[in-house]
Parts: sequence; C-alpha cells; structure tokens
Amino acid sequence: MLAAAAGHESRGRCAFVRADRGPWPESREGAVSLTFDDGMASQLATAVPTLERHGLRATFYLNPRGDDWAERLAVWRAVAAAGHELGNHTCAHPCSRAFPWVVPGGALEDMTLEDMAADLDRAEERLSVLSGVPAGRSFAYPCYQDQVGFGSSRRSYVPLVAERFIAGRARGERANDPLRCDRHHLWSFPCERAGAAEMIGLCELGAAEGAWTILTLHGIQEGALSVQEADLAALCAHLGRARARLWTAPVAEVAARLAAWRAAGAPRDARRAEAR
Ligand SMILES: [Zn+2]
Repeated sequence: MLAAAAGHESRGRCAFVRADRGPWPESREGAVSLTFDDGMASQLATAVPTLERHGLRATFYLNPRGDDWAERLAVWRAVAAAGHELGNHTCAHPCSRAFPWVVPGGALEDMTLEDMAADLDRAEERLSVLSGVPAGRSFAYPCYQDQVGFGSSRRSYVPLVAERFIAGRARGERANDPLRCDRHHLWSFPCERAGAAEMIGLCELGAAEGAWTILTLHGIQEGALSVQEADLAALCAHLGRARARLWTAPVAEVAARLAAWRAAGAPRDARRAEAR
C-alpha cells in the first residue's frame, strides 16, 4: 500500500518503488512527519481532530506503563483505526539522571542494554494489542537520548532499536537526507513554543532539499513543551494545501517507503546506507 501510487517497475517486494525517481510518492518534493510524544490529553482533544480536518495522519508515541495501561490507553484505539501510527516510546520513559526530575534508580545511567531490551519488548507487546498492528512500528527515544549506563559502561541502544523497529526518531540539525540518514536514528526538530511560520519553514526547507522533515511536538496548549492550537492549525492547513508537493505521513510509513526505495537500488550510496 505504501508505494502503490508511485512508479511502475516490477522488482519483487519493491515492485512499485522506482529508485531513479527519488523516494517520495508521485514525485513529490519532500516528506513530512508530524510526531506527538507522551500520549497527552490535548493531542486527543485537539491534535487528532485538527490533523483529520486537513486529511493528515501522524505518529503518536505512547508509553504503555503500569498495570492499568490497557484501560488508560483504550481511547487511542480509535486513533490507530483512523490511520495514525501509535509508536513505541518505551514503557518507563527513561531519561538521563542529569535531569533533576528523573527518579534515582530509574535513569538511563542505571540501566543495562538487557533492561532496555526488556522494556522495549514489553511496550511492543502492549502496543501490538492496543493498535492491532503487530509489527513495523517506529520508536522515539525518550528525551532524544540513545544510551544506557554511565562512564566506561555507557552503551548506545540504537542497535536494539534497529533490531526491533522500522525507524527510530531522535533529534538533530536538519531534515533527513534520503540518501544519507540512519533510519534508526532519524533527526527531528523539537517544536516547543514554535510558531506556525517556523514549523512551516522547516517543512519547506526540507522539501527544497528533497528531504524528510520530522517535527516533534508535545502538548497543544498543555504542559511546558506546548504549541498554540492556532499554530498547529495553520501548519496542518499548509500541509493539507501543499499535499501535491509535500507528502505528510506517519514515520513508519515514510520509513518503509525509504527502505524500499533504497533496496530497489539505483543510487549506490543509498543502497550502502540501507545495508549497514
Ligand atoms: Zn517523551
């Protein structure tokens, strides 16, 4: 489904992706993914209806923690059924103990790779049940941090993400170059307190480079990392109007298309990036 509209070449499982035309469907200039972290109430109340008013689908990164996860998150089933992605954001949302609000014993510095793998797998089992999507999900690094341990025992957990997910969203400096990006350590722009013009500008700058812009949002007029409802609405209106040029889709969908494009083969650099 992901590539059904693009190209006509028949090459096994990559049948519809023409590498020589670039990765984005119907020769669009670039891709955009809107991502929302932590399952906040304002995302359900405001972001979902705003996105859908403009025909857009996004990725919502959830933490299925605690014994009551199934009841607490049941409301998200309808969001998945409407075509949005429910992404994995771990159960425990571990971050560095350098943050003063991180509970001692529960920080990334206190974890081993085995601890992280167990958390990722637990979250994955629960999100499979919740969303009805058994595999192919994307992941977002809590607090954008990708390492466990401390000092000489510090280790990257990017390989654990690469083994389990179609993509991993971190933070970075630019939109993702389809030839060069690491699908399991994608760059995104944190958008807290950003205005519509700034967010639209990031999407258009990425498109001018033929790249994939990922925006990270949290609350909509909720919490410390929020954006204003009017700014989100203006961003969605722009992306809706620009749909013939900009492909806006959930992270998992764009990542799957990118992987298929690389595997289909024309640009040698891209093929190497996918093989690593
Ligand atoms: Zn988070």
